[in-house]
Amino acid sequence: YYEQLQQSERLKMVAHLTAAVAHEIRNPVTVVRGFLQFYKEDASFSDPIKNKFKLMIDELNTVEQIISQFLTLSKPNGDQTTEKVDVKEVLESVSGLLHSYAMLSDNEIHIDVEEDCFISINKIEFKQLLINLIKNALEASDVGKSVSVTAKRNNNFVEIKIIDEGSGMSEAEVKLLGTPFYSIKSNGTGLGLMICFNIVAKYDGEILYKSSKGKGTTVNIRFLAKNDQ
Ligand code: ADP
Ligand code: MG
Repeated sequence: YYEQLQQSERLKMVAHLTAAVAHEIRNPVTVVRGFLQFYKEDASFSDPIKNKFKLMIDELNTVEQIISQFLTLSKPNGDQTTEKVDVKEVLESVSGLLHSYAMLSDNEIHIDVEEDCFISINKIEFKQLLINLIKNALEASDVGKSVSVTAKRNNNFVEIKIIDEGSGMSEAEVKLLGTPFYSIKSNGTGLGLMICFNIVAKYDGEILYKSSKGKGTTVNIRFLAKNDQ
């Protein structure tokens, strides 16, 4: 089933609420990071353990970044730097970030990206978009299944596909995607796709779901390619 998903109106309606939630998350994150920073400097811990603390701090920094992005998303004039972004570079970095998450269920992430894929976007938001979509694909997949991510130039566009062979969705379920707090996962927030659709709309992109219950899902994303002069 194909479903066009651009619903900026209802996104606006909840933007202030979700911004409040993001703001509330920031404080506990700051506290936890403070403790980790303290232990990282503590001489009684061995270097391998200190290194683990450093990794945890890095992850919390990412959480902070995402929260900041989320907060600026809900502000009309948030300062966003749009730059020429190499899709291949970001996809490789994102797949690296999600590697251990995928390993938990013995899933693999395959990346197949053409060299010449550049778009004009805020890099952090682009990462956030890909992380959310690839995580969803992994979470829908059974143990041992792979998720494929491809990107290629098509005329003036860069097309990105995220393909899973997971649970799939009915037409009715696809229609609900992006609805704030819609989640069928026990530990889901139901905010991921709302954020994704907001980011795609912000950069005049398109996002399209093709899904078949029991067979899998393909997410098609399209952005205008950023050419060299
Ligand atoms: P969350 O991941 O926290 O549940 P999302 O907004 O990311 O929230 O996704 C909302 C819901 O959409 C998920 O709970 C899931 O039911 C469905 N969904 C999203 N992506 C996929 C996918 N690739 N395959 C199957 N279902 C999906
Ligand atoms: Mg999600």
